[in-house]
Amino acid sequence: SAYMASEKGAAVAATPSDSPTIFDKIINKEIPATIVYEDDKVLAFRDIAPQAPTHILLIPKVKDGLTGLSKAEERHSVILGHLLYTAKLVAKQEGLEDGFRIVINDGPSACQSVYHIHVHLLGGRQMNWPPG
Ligand code: IMP
Repeated sequence: SAYMASEKGAAVAATPSDSPTIFDKIINKEIPATIVYEDDKVLAFRDIAPQAPTHILLIPKVKDGLTGLSKAEERHSVILGHLLYTAKLVAKQEGLEDGFRIVINDGPSACQSVYHIHVHLLGGRQMNWPPG
C-alpha cells in the first residue's frame, strides 16, 4: 500500500524484536554496503536512503540484545560510548567541520525501522529544529 511504501508506514509496521536484521547481513558482508569506518566493535556505513549529503549509520557488530536504546542495560554502557566516540571520528573524517547531528530513533513512535541499535550521523547541510 502507499502507506507501507512510506518510511513512516514501514517503521510503524516494524515489530520490535530481537531477531536478526538486515544489519547482520551487512556485518557478515552478505549484502553490500559502503563502509566508511570499521574496528573490532563497530561498523559505520552509508545509509541507503540518505536524508542529508552525509548520512551514516553506526552499529555495534554484536547486538547483544541491544535492539534499541530503550533496551540498554548497564553492560552496554561501553559500546554505547564507543558508538558516540566513533561518530565523532567519522564526522571529522567526513569533513563535517561546521556541525553534524546524531539521532537514535527508538520504537514505533520514533519511526525505528531496524531493531539493531544504530546511531545516525547526519551532516553536510543546515539541519532544522524541531525535527520532524
Ligand atoms: P531507523 O528508521 O532509525 O530504524 O533507521 C534505519 C535506517 O536504515 C534507515 O535510515 C534506512 O534507510 C537504513 N537502511 C535500511 N536498510 C539499509 C541497508 O541495507 N543499507 C543501508 N541502510 C539501510
